[in-house]
Formats: sequence, structure tokens, C-alpha cells
Amino acid sequence: MSQFWSPIVQTLTPYVPGEQPKLPGLIKLNTNENPYPPSPAVTAAIQAVSADVLRLYPDPDASALKQALATHHDVQPNEIFVGNGSDEVLAFVFMALLKHAEPLLFPDITYSFYPVYCKLFGIDYVEVPLTATMGINTADYENKTCGGIIFPNPNAPTGVSIPLSAIEALLIKQPDVVVAIDEAYVDFGAETAIPLIRKYPNLLVIRTFSKSRSLAGLRVGFAMGHPKLIEALERVKNSFNSYPMDRLALAGAIASYGDEAYFQQTRQAIIDSREQMTAALEKLGFSVLPSHANFIFARHDAYGAEELAAGLRERAIIVRHFKHPRINQYLRISIGNPEECKTLIQTLTLLTSAL
Ligand code: PMP
Repeated sequence: MSQFWSPIVQTLTPYVPGEQPKLPGLIKLNTNENPYPPSPAVTAAIQAVSADVLRLYPDPDASALKQALATHHDVQPNEIFVGNGSDEVLAFVFMALLKHAEPLLFPDITYSFYPVYCKLFGIDYVEVPLTATMGINTADYENKTCGGIIFPNPNAPTGVSIPLSAIEALLIKQPDVVVAIDEAYVDFGAETAIPLIRKYPNLLVIRTFSKSRSLAGLRVGFAMGHPKLIEALERVKNSFNSYPMDRLALAGAIASYGDEAYFQQTRQAIIDSREQMTAALEKLGFSVLPSHANFIFARHDAYGAEELAAGLRERAIIVRHFKHPRINQYLRISIGNPEECKTLIQTLTLLTSAL
């Protein structure tokens, strides 16, 4: 009963994740999951965890995982924070680094969890409009007084990326606030900002194992930045939950980084499918934004997005449709395996000729 709710709870509008229906045969292209299983090395590592050790708490500092990440990304372990999915890492970033007297800046069209964290933590924000071509223009963030800046690169749900040079130009203009780059989808073709963290102590890069590492179900995310930024995140984490990373997640995540060949192979397969799917959709009369993610954002020149999404759903394919007026004519379609992509194109061919 809501009279028991604290005042803040009464004001919240929680984030609604893409649905996870359990229908057999469903082609699920709505939550940007990876269509390929995780590396066999991950499966083996998780199976090798003896159930007996689950009696014991995991390492609260996740040292072995931080070491694996540090080696791979050529940084020091004290430049890394790990958490229970990048959503948790982001929550800590908002609380620890982005809440200040001046408003936080992020794009008007972006990951819709950002305003939800702002509400939860009482952070003022200003939405900076994407350009007419649905891109982020960093110049629009350069001369504004703000308490911090966050955006994904590539952006979600557009898939459009910006070059590292634009991020560096922004860091030069805004040296006194944290600039957080959410690189959830960066492995599918965008430029990472990790090489800049030594040069800019206000830069924080956030990553996830959910997309390019096929581990959305394991819940592992991390952030990289100056040790002082990481210390802020550790302070929040250690005021919240000492053990966000369980033993299975630690074992699986470390093993994932040990299988570079599999990572490269699956990542490339998704990039190739994305390019094929883009060409096929354009042939059907869709305009497709240039994507560096594992999804594409497309609108049909003649048919409404809501209608198309409903038509796909009737044929057991689910994609994401957002009601925001600026993007309500777009469909966000995750890249599936080649078979799923083929069925999607066949179904859209049918729908766009029959509607
Ligand atoms: N950032 C962006 C831009 C995303 O789209 C997502 C996935 N919904 C996340 C972060 C969170 O991913 P996870 O919590 O699975 O790491």
C-alpha cells in the first residue's frame, strides 16, 4: 500500500526494459542481446566453479577481474571499477560523479535510463537535442555551464557514433566536470575513448559484457578512468553492497577476456550481418541511420513504425518501438543471427508489400 512508500518512491517513473517473453520460436530482436552464445571458455570456467565455494563470499574487490581488464586494456587495476552490469555502474556514476549544483547534460534522444537515475538521485538535467541527422554534436555541449556530461558512443537507440577527436575536443573545453562516455556498444565499430583516460582526469568510460561478450545474463559492467574517479565509485559501492560481483560472474567474465579469437569472430559476424541487413532494408524503402552498434535504427518512407512493429509481432518477431515523438517513426532492430536476419527481411518484404 502506497502510504508505506517513502516520498521519493511516490515520484519515481522506473525504466521499463524491453520485454522478455518466453514464447517458443520467437525471434527476439528487441533488447540488443548478442545472438551468439558466450565463448565455450566462459561455459567451462563457470562449470569449474565448485558449488562448495559458494559458501564463501566472493572477493569484494574483484581483483582478478580487474587485473584481466587492466592487462587487456593497458591500464592499471586502480583505474578500473567493476559492477553488477553497466546499469549498476551507471547508477553509481550518477550518484558519485554527476550530481552537482549545475545540471547534467545528455542528448534528448539517448539511453532512457539516464533521466530515471536523475529522478532517483535528485539530479537536475538538460537534454541537448541531437542534430537534424540524429547525431551528437559535441560543440553543443562545449560552452554550456553544467555539472557533468554523459552520452553513449555509439548513441542508443540511434547507433550513430562520433569520432574520438570530437570527444577530445569536448574534454578540452569542459575540463572541470566529469565527461562520462557509455561505451556499451563500442566494440561493434566505434572508437573507444579508453586511450584518453590518462590525459584527461575528468574522463570516465563505461563498458559492459552484455553486448559484444554475449553475457547479458551474467551482469558484468565496468568503468575506467583516473584513480580519483574510481575511488568515488568504490566509496559509493562500499556504502551500498560489498559484493556486487558473484563468484560465477567473476569466473565467467575473466574467461571471456581469455578468448580473444572468439570475441573477434562473433563481433565481426554481427558487423557483417548489420551491413547486409542495412542494405536489404534500404532496398525495401527504409532509411537506416549509419550504425556502429549491434542494432539498427530505421524508418520506412511510407509505412508507420507502430504498424510495422505490430505486423512483425503477429509473425513472432519482436523489435523495439519508442513513443517519443522525435523517433516514433523508427524501429530499433537488434542484429540477430543470419537465419533471424533473413526471416526478418522476408517478413518485412511481405509487410511492406501487403500493408
Ligand atoms: N548503456 C546503454 C546505452 C545500454 O543500451 C544498456 C543496455 N540496456 C546499458 C548501458 C546497460 O547494459 P547492462 O546493464 O546490461 O550492462
